[in-house]
Order: sequence, then structure tokens, then C-alpha cells
Amino acid sequence: MNLQALVRPNIWHLSPYSCARQEYSAGNATVFLDANESPYNPPLNRYPDPLQHRLKQAVEQIKGIPEACTFLGNGSDEAIDLVLRVFCEPGVDNVVAISPTYGMYEVCAHINNVEYRPVSLGAGFSLQSERVLAATDDHTKVIFLCSPNNPTGNTLERVEVDKLLARFSGIVVMDEAYSDFSSVRPYRLDLQAYPNLIVLNTLSKAWASAAIRLGMAFASEEIIELMNRVKYPYNISLPTQKEALAILQKEVQVKEWVQLILSERTRLMAAFARLPLCREVFPTEANFFLARVSEATKIYHYLIACGIVVRDRSRVELCADSLRITIGTPLENDALLDALRKYEA
Ligand code: PMP
Repeated sequence: MNLQALVRPNIWHLSPYSCARQEYSAGNATVFLDANESPYNPPLNRYPDPLQHRLKQAVEQIKGIPEACTFLGNGSDEAIDLVLRVFCEPGVDNVVAISPTYGMYEVCAHINNVEYRPVSLGAGFSLQSERVLAATDDHTKVIFLCSPNNPTGNTLERVEVDKLLARFSGIVVMDEAYSDFSSVRPYRLDLQAYPNLIVLNTLSKAWASAAIRLGMAFASEEIIELMNRVKYPYNISLPTQKEALAILQKEVQVKEWVQLILSERTRLMAAFARLPLCREVFPTEANFFLARVSEATKIYHYLIACGIVVRDRSRVELCADSLRITIGTPLENDALLDALRKYEA
């Protein structure tokens, strides 16, 4: 892979902003008169670590990826946007993605004036690597994949993903936001084999911390360095860094939550499948499932009237009359089932 040929020339040649806290890092200084901060209201008066050294060390303990190969962002949404800004020349380049999938790849592409080329999944929402490759051309810089995929819940078949990684000479983004709920080996662990791979993770799902906005991108040192150049200097606030460190200390608790969610997923899906309004429950490896029902939009509004919000995906490709249902607590899941048992078509 020729990285320079993939990167926008203005980014390749960029001299990034050097912030005060980056120029001064080690040492014994106690008087900080370098960053125009207030001397009052500690610790919030000080700018946070721009490259989040301590937090990345904690992430490495859990995820097994070295600091130099880790980017931290304001949610994984920031990483998605940065990938587009680093690699895609507006009005010239394009990106290819599976369809249906997470909506932000398309929105971010359009915000950046980058053509977005969706490629339909096949039977059982399977990845068709030949179809994806056929949608690429000389201006395709990035392919977006998501596994387990949102909103379908399934993981993408490894042989098909491997074909793309081997045959596509641009960047492959593999969004593994939901991989903590899956038994499939995550691509994060195979980064060294694929210099063109960027893996996305987040604290918003299994790590139960959507409010703090902490997403991760794992890739080669060279790719991470490019993303760090383009990000805002202090993109992760001090409160977020602190809360992220705190939740990463609770790995045992988080694993228990994941097990609870998985057992509730089994129970809820089985009960849902027995409801008269259910047509099909699709297999899932995430903390949600997609189900085809008799009349999705009507049921969606009925549930809202009961005080229960699910996601109506019926206007999404391949998802006619489908609802996406997140696994809640046992009480919440029972409330959903009770309401649906009382539903009259
Ligand atoms: N990727 C996928 C596949 C998602 O479903 C979501 C959230 N719905 C995200 C990324 C966004 O995650 P974050 O909260 O880290 O921005």
C-alpha cells in the first residue's frame, strides 16, 4: 500500500498546530504560564493532555493495541469524520459502504462533499465482496464495513472481509462498535497483518458510557499520526478522560453487564418470536436485534404511546417492516413484551 498516494496532499504536507501542552511534556515544572489559562479553579482550569497518554495506556491494557496505534476521539463519530477528511478530496474521491449500515458514514461523506456508494448486502445480510469491489474505482479511497452490523446485527463473514482487505488498495474501515457482544474474533487483533485497516471501537455500547463520548480508532502508526494531525488539539475533555479511566478499571463489572445483556437477548428474542405480530427475528451478535413484524410503523407508534421507544427501520434498504430493538434490563424487556402482547392489529 502506498499511503502517500491515498492521503489528501494538503494533509500529507500539513504542519499541524502545536499546542502549549504538547511543546512542554516531561519535567518538573510547577508554574504553568504557557497556555493563557486561569490559575484558579483547578483542575478544570488546565487544558487536558492533547494525546491522552494515560488513557491510551489504560486502553492498551484492555484492547492490546499500543499507544502509537491508537487514536481517541469524541465518539467514534469523530474518527469516521477524520478518516474522510484525511483521505478523501471533496468533489473528487468517493467511498464505498455496505447497505444497510450505520448512517453516519453516509452523512459524514456528504458533509465532506465526498460521493457515497452503497452496496447492498446479500442473503442473510451477508457481505458480497465481489459486489463491493465492483463499486470501487480509481477514486475510491475508503470502504466502510461494520461487524456486527447496525441495524442488521449479524457479523460479516471473515473470508469475504479478508478478500476485500487483500484486493482493495485503499483504506478499509472496520467498525467494531458492537464486537464486545460477539463471539467472533475482532479484526482489532489482526491489525499488524493489514496496513490498510482501521478498526473502530467505542465506550458507548458494552462499556456503558455513551454520555462521555469516547471512541477509538486502531491502525498503523502512520495512519494514526495523520489522524492526530487533523483532530482538534484538545479533542477529549478532562472529565471524559477521567470517566473513561474509571470505567476501564471496571472491566469485571462490564463483562458481567455484557453477560446479562446476552442472556436477556436470548430470552427476549425467543419471546418476541412467539408474538403473533412477529414475522421473523434475525440472528444477531450485538446488543440489539432486528425483527420483521406485521406493520412496523404502526407498532412503533403504538409502543411510543405505551412509553417505549424502539427504532423503526422500515424505510431502510432490505429492512421493510423491521424494528430494531435494543436489549434493556429484564424489567424493560418485560415491559416491551407486555405491551406487544396487548397489541391489537
Ligand atoms: N458505529 C456504530 C456501528 C454505531 O452503531 C454507533 C452508534 N449508534 C457508533 C459507531 C457511534 O458510536 P460513538 O458513540 O462512539 O460515536
